[in-house]
Amino acid sequence: MPQNLLDLDLAGLTAWFGELGEKPFRARQVFHWVHQAGVADFAQMTDIAKSLREKLQQQAVVTAPAINYAHVSADGTRKWLFDVGPSGGAASDRAWRNGIETVFIPEDDRGTLCVSSQVGCALECTFCSTGRQGFNRNLTVAEIIGQLWVAQHSLKTEPNRTTPNHGAGEISDRPVTNVVMMGMGEPLANFENVVTALGIMLDDHAYGLSRRRVTVSTSGLVPAMDRLAERCPVALAVSLHAPNDALRDQIVPINKKYPLAELMAACRRYLVYAPRDFITFEYVMLAGVNDQPEHARQLIELTREVPCKFNLIPFNPFPDSGYEKPRADAMRVFREILQDAGYVVTTRKTRGDDIDAACGQLAGKVADKSGRVMKRMHKEAA
Ligand code: SAH
Ligand code: SF4
Repeated sequence: MPQNLLDLDLAGLTAWFGELGEKPFRARQVFHWVHQAGVADFAQMTDIAKSLREKLQQQAVVTAPAINYAHVSADGTRKWLFDVGPSGGAASDRAWRNGIETVFIPEDDRGTLCVSSQVGCALECTFCSTGRQGFNRNLTVAEIIGQLWVAQHSLKTEPNRTTPNHGAGEISDRPVTNVVMMGMGEPLANFENVVTALGIMLDDHAYGLSRRRVTVSTSGLVPAMDRLAERCPVALAVSLHAPNDALRDQIVPINKKYPLAELMAACRRYLVYAPRDFITFEYVMLAGVNDQPEHARQLIELTREVPCKFNLIPFNPFPDSGYEKPRADAMRVFREILQDAGYVVTTRKTRGDDIDAACGQLAGKVADKSGRVMKRMHKEAA
């Protein structure tokens, strides 16, 4: 099997080059070609000695996940559906392929890429379509960084798009300025691969993103939060969704293992290392479940000792979820209670609605084993 260079960070590539008898600076040059220039074909790496190019052609590849579907929403949001291989299910499931999604959200001053870390998720949050479909497998480093590789380099070569700081028709060198690990999966449950991929995002020899512009979102895997602080302290978002253990046990079942007092303590420990001086708490608003004024007041009590911001996310409905979107006035009252207590509160704008790219809607549908949605997407794409 040839070595997929997207699986290696610079240290790994340098070690692998060592085995080939090649010097570290050669590894650096190839790393630049792959990640900064977006070149997958060794023949195009013109400043690399021909003998090395030939060696690489025989022993290496640069393979990102295959694009199954790419779509642009009316508001400029883009979505890619990647095919990451067969599901490994029974023969009768043969038609079903694993799909993951990546979403690019352009805004005036930034371009944010929402990246997936697993196929499915084992944590079974009750309001999440990814959680409902169960866990299939972890993504490899190449599949995680490959989402950024594809987005950065395909956006770079498209002239007619909305990009940060650029008028229509202009081309930016680095359209993706921010990454959020908020696609499918729990990033901290795929720890090693996610940390290696994060390292490549941060590496000046690759994408050079600052730690403040890379965010890991977790449902609260406490020991892994501590390990992340040690290994790769990027910005942290914690999916809180409930202000007390009784409610959180129900909707975010990992809470039974790592209850709120432990989670709050872990947030405080993380802040010692974090690139920002606050944690972002994500809070999905579920009508009649966690969106009442008393819940907002309990949140103030709960987070009293954790410097934080709140991001309120209206629930994105999916078939048979059993939940409903919050009413606009419930969201307003909830937000005002937090704001009056001095909190910074953002309400997530729903973007890319028309292409199902809104948060929490990612790929759950794609993995529908009947393949119905895949087919529908193909029809839409045609
Ligand atoms: N597993 C990680 C990251 C992926 S989910 C986590 O849970 O944090 C990204 C965000 O979308 C999380 O805050 C998650 O709770 C939220 N989310 C999941 N399903 C949703 C839905 N149906 N509507 C709105 N947000 C949802
Ligand atoms: Fe997994 Fe996050 Fe969905 Fe919970 S909300 S099931 S942790 S992806």
